[in-house]
Amino acid sequence: MQHIPIYQPTLGTEERINVLDCLDSSWISSKGKFIGLFETEFTKYLGIKHAATVSNGTVALHLALLAIGIKAGDEVIVPTLTYVASVNAITYIGAKPVFIDSLLDTWQLDPIDLESKITDKTKAIMVVHLYGMACDMTTIMKLARKYNLKVVEDCAEAFGTKYKNKFVGTFGDISAFSFFGNKTITTGEGGMVVSNSKKIIDIASHIKGQGLAKNTEYWHDIVGYNYRMTNICAGIGLAQLSKAQLFITQKRQIADLYRKYLLGLPVKMLKESKGVYGTYWMISITFSNQATRQKVRKLLSENSVETRPVFYPINTLPMYKDNITHKNATYLSKRGINLPSYPGLSEDQIIYICDLIRGYFYEPLIRKN
Ligand SMILES: *Cc1c(COP(=O)(O)O)cnc(C)c1O
Repeated sequence: MQHIPIYQPTLGTEERINVLDCLDSSWISSKGKFIGLFETEFTKYLGIKHAATVSNGTVALHLALLAIGIKAGDEVIVPTLTYVASVNAITYIGAKPVFIDSLLDTWQLDPIDLESKITDKTKAIMVVHLYGMACDMTTIMKLARKYNLKVVEDCAEAFGTKYKNKFVGTFGDISAFSFFGNKTITTGEGGMVVSNSKKIIDIASHIKGQGLAKNTEYWHDIVGYNYRMTNICAGIGLAQLSKAQLFITQKRQIADLYRKYLLGLPVKMLKESKGVYGTYWMISITFSNQATRQKVRKLLSENSVETRPVFYPINTLPMYKDNITHKNATYLSKRGINLPSYPGLSEDQIIYICDLIRGYFYEPLIRKN
């Protein structure tokens, strides 16, 4: 059996045509027609008013926090069970990440823990829609209104995911997307910020382009950054976006197949909770304990199947270590893995993967060779 990676981008003729257009026209930098087209099509897809492309998802988060006015010393509440970039973006500003736990059944941030961590210094909530699912946005937006907090949505893992028939990324003040190679749509490296507020996206655009003032050449009136996306990336992104619904349909079918072939095994698969239309960025399962998780990962690896462990709680990493234990984040982090989840994965490959897992539990010696 050939190596099955955890993820790989699905690229085709559409991407090739757009990249060649950049090369042939020499528009390879961050000016060119694909930038505006990608932004416009992205807003149309999500049903949001404004968007600005950026060079990756991490800077999208940094820019999002800057655009809503987060400053050094402010507190930003963030789930500890997330990718490190959500938290680093808060730290870049000198703001303080305040960690909260997640829910065992949905893996998303726990709104009750969220409310308990709000202080006078809290300025924003960084909502992370993890592994293609969605947070409880009804409760989160209610809390944000009650305490007058800004909401940034980290949608890096949840492009196309819906909560109560509305795309994630359209609830908060500003939202960030990533187009890294393993994300649902990719530009290689890339990202986007979106908002219904023109003012917020204008600020973000100002900051992402070195703080260049409007209508005056080479006059910069704030310290900005170069967070721009290239026309080449935007061309790839535009092509990817035209196939996004196909990718999502395929990923949902893959989830159905995993569910079917894992049936009856002592593993639990992360599923859509009520009101959520999931995009299953990465199929996520938990085992009953950490030792089993390690052994199954090893068995899969020996049989050419790549998996990855669920994130470590960020407050256990050296630079964020605070000696607080978040029970559910710890539970999921120790027992969870992601399985191969890219659109091109075949049913035979899924059967092969699930058979290996089945073999671990019911006939380990036979499967060893
Ligand atoms: C991928 C990811 C990011 C960062 O995106 P990059 O494009 O890799 O910088 C941020 N948050 C989450 C939750 C992610 O999964």
